[in-house]
Amino acid sequence: MRTDVAIIGAGPAGLLLAHLLAADGIASVVVETRTKEYVAARIRAGILESASVDLLRAAGLGAGVDAGGDQHRGIYLQWPSQRHHLDFVDLAGRSVWVYGQTQLQADLVAASEAAGRAVYYGTSGTALHDLDTGHPFVTFADSAGTPQRVDAAAVAGCDGSFGPSRSALPADQTSTWERVYPYSWLGILADVAPSTDELIYAWHPDGFAMHSMRSATVSRLYLQVPNGTDTADWPDDRIWAALAARLGHGQDGWTLTPGPVTDKSVLPMRSFVQSPMRHGRLFLAGDAAHTVPPTGAKGLNLAIADVALLAPALGRLVRKNDAALADAYSDTALRRVWRCEHFSWWMTTMLHISGDPFDAQLQLSQLRWVTSSTAGAAGLAENYAGLPIGF
Ligand SMILES: Cc1cc2nc3c(=O)[nH]c(=O)nc-3n(C[C@H](O)[C@H](O)[C@H](O)COP(=O)(O)OP(=O)(O)OC[C@H]3O[C@@H](n4cnc5c(N)ncnc54)[C@H](O)[C@@H]3O)c2cc1C
Repeated sequence: MRTDVAIIGAGPAGLLLAHLLAADGIASVVVETRTKEYVAARIRAGILESASVDLLRAAGLGAGVDAGGDQHRGIYLQWPSQRHHLDFVDLAGRSVWVYGQTQLQADLVAASEAAGRAVYYGTSGTALHDLDTGHPFVTFADSAGTPQRVDAAAVAGCDGSFGPSRSALPADQTSTWERVYPYSWLGILADVAPSTDELIYAWHPDGFAMHSMRSATVSRLYLQVPNGTDTADWPDDRIWAALAARLGHGQDGWTLTPGPVTDKSVLPMRSFVQSPMRHGRLFLAGDAAHTVPPTGAKGLNLAIADVALLAPALGRLVRKNDAALADAYSDTALRRVWRCEHFSWWMTTMLHISGDPFDAQLQLSQLRWVTSSTAGAAGLAENYAGLPIGF
């Protein structure tokens, strides 16, 4: 096959990139190892920044968020006996939307199928070739095991943290930065109406907890747990008891309503950046180039921001053989990536218990400042609600 851009990975970054390219008249072929059903069912992120929603609307993909998204003005920050609301609209002029990654993935798949775009699911053996030339190509075996080759003007590595694109960059021309945190999140999805109107981020001596939601009838909740935690050690009753304690059940009349748990998983916390996000005709986007701990709700939004920059860069490269935007892509994207890396690290280290009593006092001091100073609150609001795509 011959196309303009070969895209590896049909997650949010890959499918959105294919959509934005198509709007610019650029053809693509998407290659994905998992089945369409598997990708669609993955329970992951759930918060969209205002810039992400603006971009989806401008791309004709906003109907789902507008119909099923829940616009939130802010979040609650709390620690024992204290709960404070931060109103992002008042503080930074922007809101966020609760909209599950599963819902966004469904919108992207629907748009891709309506347009009849080429997406190969259930592939194996993806390999990248001749990236240093103007004629890169990708090989793989399709779901029937038939070998395939896609020749393209550029390859977009949108294949997440474990795909082959990241390691296709020569090690001696690549820098990586990594931080592994000494704790994980135990996340549950529950068929119960949320006990809160907006997300609660709770500092607690037993560990961080968070109350999020996916819809009016589905709640998403998290507990800080040690690395290596086995979900088998956390029966539902234990989870709800820990959530009730950490989220302040009974405090000022607030109650946490438990419900049937439909999904349970452990998510390790990690920060990672690979630079540059480009080698020859290969361009990385989303989790393929960086990972953030989920505390700042940035992973999905960064993937969207990357492809918003990459699509016009590839458009100019393919159509006009003009490499100006493509050459600038990595530096431009990394500015925003590092801002989000910092914010995600900052939220994580402010809210998670490290076991060091000195850290705990610093965290409480920081929380008191963020919730009582307009300057402190505005800094959090500006970063959480999201900076402009080109920041
Ligand atoms: C387990 C998990 C839980 C998360 N939970 C949260 C959360 O609670 N809150 C939050 O804000 N963020 C969360 N995130 C982060 C957020 O979901 C990601 O940042 C987001 O999915 C990034 O989108 P992406 O398209 O770049 O990568 P991905 O969504 O990872 O998509 C990459 C795609 O590439 C495919 N692929 C991999 N290898 C190959 C190959 N060899 N050939 C072809 N295709 C390949 C993968 O199957 C996948 O479909 C979570 C991430 C993970 C991994």
